[in-house]
Amino acid sequence: MNSPAPSPPFVPSEVEVRGASAPRLRLGRTGAVVRGKLKTNAPLAPLVWFKSGGAAELLFEPADRDDLVQLLGGLDPQTPVMALGLGSNMIVRDGGVPGVTVRLGKAFAKIERVDEVTLRCGGGASGILVSSIARDAGIAGLEFLRGIPGTVGGFVRMNGGAYGREVSDILVGCTVVLRDGQVEQWSAERLGYSYRYSELPEGAVVVEAVFRGQSGDPSVIGVEMDRIAAAREAAQPLRSRTGGSTFKNPPGHKAWALVDAAGCRGLRIGDAQVSHKHCNFLLNLGNASSSEIEELGETVRRRVRSSTNIELEWEIQRIGVE
Ligand SMILES: Cc1cc2nc3c(=O)[nH]c(=O)nc-3n(C[C@H](O)[C@H](O)[C@H](O)COP(=O)(O)OP(=O)(O)OC[C@H]3O[C@@H](n4cnc5c(N)ncnc54)[C@H](O)[C@@H]3O)c2cc1C
Repeated sequence: MNSPAPSPPFVPSEVEVRGASAPRLRLGRTGAVVRGKLKTNAPLAPLVWFKSGGAAELLFEPADRDDLVQLLGGLDPQTPVMALGLGSNMIVRDGGVPGVTVRLGKAFAKIERVDEVTLRCGGGASGILVSSIARDAGIAGLEFLRGIPGTVGGFVRMNGGAYGREVSDILVGCTVVLRDGQVEQWSAERLGYSYRYSELPEGAVVVEAVFRGQSGDPSVIGVEMDRIAAAREAAQPLRSRTGGSTFKNPPGHKAWALVDAAGCRGLRIGDAQVSHKHCNFLLNLGNASSSEIEELGETVRRRVRSSTNIELEWEIQRIGVE
């Protein structure tokens, strides 16, 4: 009996997925030709703030939305998909990330004004870019994004926030490409926001978001942004290899205070250390592996649990395999 015909090849434009690293990926029965950049076994450490962890089985930087739709629409449904922003809230485990990691590049960093108080922002635009354009356009209320080092897609998923405001306060809605390549418009209500949580489905990629503020004076907005930048500089280890706030604040508590009271300030495992400056931040002092960073976080959780009975919940996304 004849064996079944092999699936037609997946034909990327820049890097051919073939040879030893390709067969592990189940890209599905697709004749799709993508125009963006594809790389197999792509190291993720250089792309994330902690500068640690393994490689993406396939890293895809789509040329535009249709390109992303094309790739996701043709993928085997078993292939996992993960979006990556600036990796500012992420531990990539040392065994790497199976499946497709989608990184939105410059093509997704455009921002346009919709009306007096509303901006349409690409999913790959940074917080500093969004807040600066809002300031120049005289739109107040988006200043807090100045202090969060991430992309619009990451903010929308994480309900990023600071200084008493969060994304759910300014988001009108967003455009998402779902895991199967379907494009949908999601309202802020549908995202079911709570503290650092949204109901965005697994594998969905936010490619655009609409943010609304209110009319303001650019010079006043600029002063507030400078104040936020200075406050951050004073309180957080901004120039370090870190992942931002490690644990969510439990109701009625500050995570940093619980970590401090449990005697974990400065605690170290290998090159992974609890920051002296802000003890809800973990640092990679140089060559920490992701497993050391994660183990340090778990040690902190255990110590806080045994001294207070409070269970700290990870805010940092831990991605991939050990
Ligand atoms: C120094 C420092 C300070 C920080 N301060 C704050 C703060 O004040 N407030 C705060 O809320 N956070 C803070 N963070 C954490 C981080 O900046 C935010 O969580 C931010 O929203 C992450 O954005 P990102 O684009 O880098 O996402 P990543 O870290 O790359 O990813 C985080 C999550 O978002 C998902 N994601 C990323 N892009 C997309 C997309 N396009 N579509 C769908 N999902 C996506 C990822 O899959 C992952 O689940 C800080 C981090 C650092 C390093």
